[in-house]
Amino acid sequence: MRATQLYAPTLRESPAEAELVSHKLMYRAGLIRKAAGGLYSYLPLGWRTMKKIMQIIREEMDAKGGQELMMPIVQPAEMWQESGRWAVYGDEMMRLKDRHGRAFALGPTHEEMITTLIRDEVRSYKQLPLMLYQIQNKYRDEIRPRFGLMRSREFVMKDLYSFDRDVDGMNISYDKMYDAYSKVFTRCGLKFRAVEADNGAIGGGHSHEFTVLAPSGESSIAYCEACNFAASDEKAELKLIHADAEELLPLKKVSTPACHTIELVKNFLRVPIEKTIKAVAFMDDAERLILAFVRGDHEVNEIKVMNCVEGANHLYMADEKLITAAGSVAGFMSPIGIDKAIIVIDQSVMEMSNAVAGANEIDAHFVNVTPKRDFDAKKIIVADIRMVQVGDPCPHCGAPLKMTRGIEVGQVFTLGKKYSEALHATFLDEDGATKTFEMGCYGIGVGRTMAAAIEQNNDADGIIWPRAIAPFEVVVVPVNAKDDTQLAFAEKIYDELLAAGVDVLLDDRKERAGVKFKDCDLIGYPLRVTVSPKTLAGGNVEIKIRRSGEFMNFARSECVEKILDLLKNL
Ligand code: ATP
Ligand code: MG
Repeated sequence: MRATQLYAPTLRESPAEAELVSHKLMYRAGLIRKAAGGLYSYLPLGWRTMKKIMQIIREEMDAKGGQELMMPIVQPAEMWQESGRWAVYGDEMMRLKDRHGRAFALGPTHEEMITTLIRDEVRSYKQLPLMLYQIQNKYRDEIRPRFGLMRSREFVMKDLYSFDRDVDGMNISYDKMYDAYSKVFTRCGLKFRAVEADNGAIGGGHSHEFTVLAPSGESSIAYCEACNFAASDEKAELKLIHADAEELLPLKKVSTPACHTIELVKNFLRVPIEKTIKAVAFMDDAERLILAFVRGDHEVNEIKVMNCVEGANHLYMADEKLITAAGSVAGFMSPIGIDKAIIVIDQSVMEMSNAVAGANEIDAHFVNVTPKRDFDAKKIIVADIRMVQVGDPCPHCGAPLKMTRGIEVGQVFTLGKKYSEALHATFLDEDGATKTFEMGCYGIGVGRTMAAAIEQNNDADGIIWPRAIAPFEVVVVPVNAKDDTQLAFAEKIYDELLAAGVDVLLDDRKERAGVKFKDCDLIGYPLRVTVSPKTLAGGNVEIKIRRSGEFMNFARSECVEKILDLLKNL
């Protein structure tokens, strides 16, 4: 490819809304352009990288027995009604009607579509196992589309679905995909970790998120250096914290004027924060009041709360009216003496004694609260409902946990029979019995992977692509393309590199050398080959390694071989 024919509009400025370096650099390097909030065009350079990532994904999916297909983006509502997700998915789903008024959605994911397809076609165990995937646009009307391709409303996803005869088969498929994902992200040149994750709206059995480590990441990960444990903060399971035995004092109501926060109560009553019980009030779609209680120094994990309340699909902050109607007061809520609410208590709260909790009336708290004695066991749900914190003991080995941030680029799930049961997808097994498929689903965000790669690989001058996903591996730059000798010399090298199978760009633009060099650094080609009057005179070429900034000179005769060698390590 010649730069004079390439549409790669580079810019000096980035858009005001761009916060992340990857977003800024994708704009400036001419990889993407915005059409509307969360909707982007991929320009040729961006699409080249996207295609390389997709190719790596394809190869690794195929290596595990995956087969590529393509399903409709527009999906009839009936499938989603049958699975029960039409109501659950909420505003994130982009819905539309056809001319006859029939309801459809733009696929945010394809479990319903593929299960319906397989249900009607795959009848026998002999056709199993199956792993089917597609690489296609997905649609999610994200509440806050942001960070460019990281969180957009239309994005390219690889989604694979596995169908097995039994749970063992499903687990084998899961392990295969786990391995394939590790290979994909390693080949893309990324530093990542597979973390135990929450299943989110998809539901089902176990799950890992493949997370690229970057301080700008949206997900927070707890990990242990003493063992292999890593989990998203949404999921990290916590052991209960035992408290030392104390002499139990009698429960007493005390006046706490205007102490409506834990901070105010603890200062007013002069107690350590670990001796206070904090409340967070939620409501669900059915407007049920759900009160969650954790120790004052802990934070409530909304997902864990939701998972332990039967029938709750979304949680919202509770209306004050709802709290009042239940006989309580915001800022003074308590599990003692309240009936019209679902009460969820963190397991560590149950270990406390002589603690402070609200009294369900304004300007009053209970002191000497001992949950095991004072809470009505029949009316409460006790569970692990708090967020992990730095220093919490590792659930596997007990060592203190650390926290880091990451970008979720892929996720693997076992689904079990969740969709096959709801959609009645069965097959005939060897013993003649009708059985329900055991499924798994596995997604990779292609654009998010590209963005994450840039987050991890950049400097003040621009992007530093890992070779495997660079839009071009090498750029050949004659410093003065108006000079025929220089251009001819550069073209010859370009041709030889092409013949050697290198993905190479010839920067034949008649721009100033400084402009071309700046563009090369901004776009981030791993290697630059420079042809100048000086190198011509010496019969050699100059090579610049983008990542290290090193320059080297090679004789013309050996330069192609040297370039091939250098590329091996980039
Ligand atoms: P998130 O928690 O970030 O919203 P998710 O867990 O809902 O993502 P999945 O359903 O697991 O996403 O989708 C598989 C992959 O698709 C994700 O790992 C991510 O790489 C990508 N992805 C999901 N939502 C978006 C989005 N809005 N924009 C770009 N990529 C996305
Ligand atoms: Mg996910």
